[in-house]
Formats: sequence, C-alpha cells, structure tokens
Amino acid sequence: MSGAMSLYIHAPFCAGACDYCDFYSIPVKQDDERLDRFVTVLLGEAEERLRRFNVTAVPTLYIGGGTPSLLGAGRMRRLLAGLRVLLPQWPGEATVEVNPESADEEFLTACLNGGVNRISAGVQSFHEPSRLMVRRVGNGKLLPQRLALLASLYGEAFSADLIAGLPGQHEGALREDLARLLAFKPGHVSLYALTLEDGVPLADASSPIPLLPEDEADRLWLIGRDILENAGYAQYEVSNFALPGRRSAHNIRYWRMENWIGLGPAASSTIISTGSGGALAEGRRYVHAPDVDAYLAERPAPAEEYLDARTLIKETCLMGFRYREGPDRELFIRRFYQDIEEYIPRALSRWRKRGLMVPGMTALNREGLLFLNAFLVDVFAELDGGSSWTDSS
Ligand code: SF4
Repeated sequence: MSGAMSLYIHAPFCAGACDYCDFYSIPVKQDDERLDRFVTVLLGEAEERLRRFNVTAVPTLYIGGGTPSLLGAGRMRRLLAGLRVLLPQWPGEATVEVNPESADEEFLTACLNGGVNRISAGVQSFHEPSRLMVRRVGNGKLLPQRLALLASLYGEAFSADLIAGLPGQHEGALREDLARLLAFKPGHVSLYALTLEDGVPLADASSPIPLLPEDEADRLWLIGRDILENAGYAQYEVSNFALPGRRSAHNIRYWRMENWIGLGPAASSTIISTGSGGALAEGRRYVHAPDVDAYLAERPAPAEEYLDARTLIKETCLMGFRYREGPDRELFIRRFYQDIEEYIPRALSRWRKRGLMVPGMTALNREGLLFLNAFLVDVFAELDGGSSWTDSS
C-alpha cells in the first residue's frame, strides 16, 4: 500500500479528567518527563509508519488528544521540527488541539512558527456552574483572554468546541456561550450534543449530578444550531459548522473514508486499498492499546484488524452520511465498482420520498441529519439483506 495518507497524532495527556469524556488520556503535570519521551517515541513511530506504508503525501495533519497544548512550547517545537524532516512535504492543513489554560502565547507562537495553520480549542462552555458540575478541566475565566490571543495570532483559522446539554445549562446560558464565543469570530465551531459513553463518571447511576432531560438537551442543541446558521456558519456535518472556506479538511477525509495513519497510544489507522482485478477493496485497521507507559517503554505493535468489503461499505455509509455532501461517490466506485446508489436503492428512495435528502445528491439534508441513526438502520438492513452484493464476503 502506498499513496496519500493523513496523519493523526494522539497526545494522551490531560491536566485532569472531565466527567463526560471517554477519550483516552492520563493526568499529568507539564514537568512530567514522560512528555519528553513521548515526543521521541512518537517521532520514531512516525518514521517507521511513513516508511512502512510508503506514504507519498500527507494532505492533513491533526495533533489531538488529550490535550496537546500540555506538551508546552519546547516539546511542540521539537515535534513539529521532527515531523517536517520526516514528511514528504508539509501538509496543506495542520491542526493542533489546545485547552485554554495551556495555550499561552509562547505555545501558540511555537505552533504557528512550526507550520500549524489551524487551532482547535476546547471551550465547551463559559457557564461556570456547568463547568463545575462536569469537573471541566481549566479555568473558565481564562477563556476570553486566550480566545482573544488565538484570534490575534490565527485570525479566523481556529475552531472552538461547545457542548449543548451540559448539566446546569439552560437556554440563556447556551445563548450567552455562543454570543461570547462568536465575538472572537472563529472560522469553525463544533457544537456537540452531550453524549455519555458507558463508563464515564457522569453516566454512572450513582452520580449526584442531575442530567438534563433528553428533549431539553435536544432543544438546546437546535437553538445553538440556529444561532450558528444565522451568524453565517453553515452546518456541513452533524456537529460541525464553518464560515466559507473554513471546513476541517482533516475531518472531511475521515468522513469520506480516505486513508489515515494514527500515531500514539489509543490511536488507530485505517488503510483501504482500491478495488483491483475485479476484487472489491479491502482494508486494515491498526489500533494502539490505550497504555501510555507501555507505549513509552516498548511501543508495542498495534492490533491489526482485517476489514472486508461489506464492513467497509457500512463504515463508508456510517461516516459519509454524517457529511453534508454525503460519501465520496467517485472514491466509492474506485473501491467497490458500483455507485453507492446501486447498493442501497430502496433506503435512498424511501428517504427521498420523505423529503430528507438533498435533491440530486446522495446526502441527507439539514432535516435528514437529525434522523441519521434511523437512516443508518434502514441502510444497514438493506446492506445486510445482501441483494446487491457482488463480492464473495
Ligand atoms: S481536557 Fe478534553 S480530552 Fe482531557 S478529559 Fe477533558 S474533555 Fe477529555
């Protein structure tokens, strides 16, 4: 396998743990020497993986986590300089995730000078009672100062995450969150509905924190969506909104099932071939164990999983229909020989008749995106019915 692949780096370190979060990270202080070793081990892994997959181009780079800004300016400089030597050419889009408390001027400038042209900031909410209830890491009072710094260094080339449906949140608080954030004119906003995976503290039945009723959380998210759209941010994915030209190229590559390499503990890679000689595409997924200390000690090989064509087509639907333009039909044909319309004609026809798809496109419309899960149930039932299968899987 060779070709263009995006690069994701998972920096699994946080200053603490937020009670709604299920991303893998460990709590550290900035002087923890494991952070130094992490950069060294990660660059070794990058060199090995780029060579192994014969990567000819890296269109996008995303350093996420965890909290990459906890690495601090010096380590980030070393990481970016190391990547610059290893990558065939510098990516067109290079994003670093930050949390306000560790994204100081020195760090943000180090990113900028190192080739980072996009920052994604974890804001979540300015509303102090909600932040306290979910034990959100960091100090809400720092947010305005750090957002102003971001805007002065990066202009519109930054994104901010907000959550709708946090405990203690109400309509006024959400409206204020959006007004305060939009005053800094981020080019991109991710507005997430609070979802709790099993095992996170807030999902524990014994948690004393009262959650909002589901319909109230949904109502808040819809209010947030409308505010963003009225302010000129177009919804281009279930939870993502952007000013013109400010969509996340990296995330679009995930949603369209392009190949990517993930480095670092808990990161995964997905590498898919094109169809050839009449055989449908197949893929491999490589998943690192969520274990920082093992990674730093011996960097165990990631677990490898084979992805057959049926699995890949389902994942293509799962990811692709999140995106406002739908799955990449040309890439789909290169991989599976037929248009996606020929695999799921009945589901698409039903949803078109309900007025939930974009006319002339294989994509859900604004209203349809609200029913993505029901749509996918329909799609998967048709795929599992198998009438349109031409492979031997
Ligand atoms: S700072 Fe971000 S990654 Fe870390 S625990 Fe909180 S939400 Fe999760």
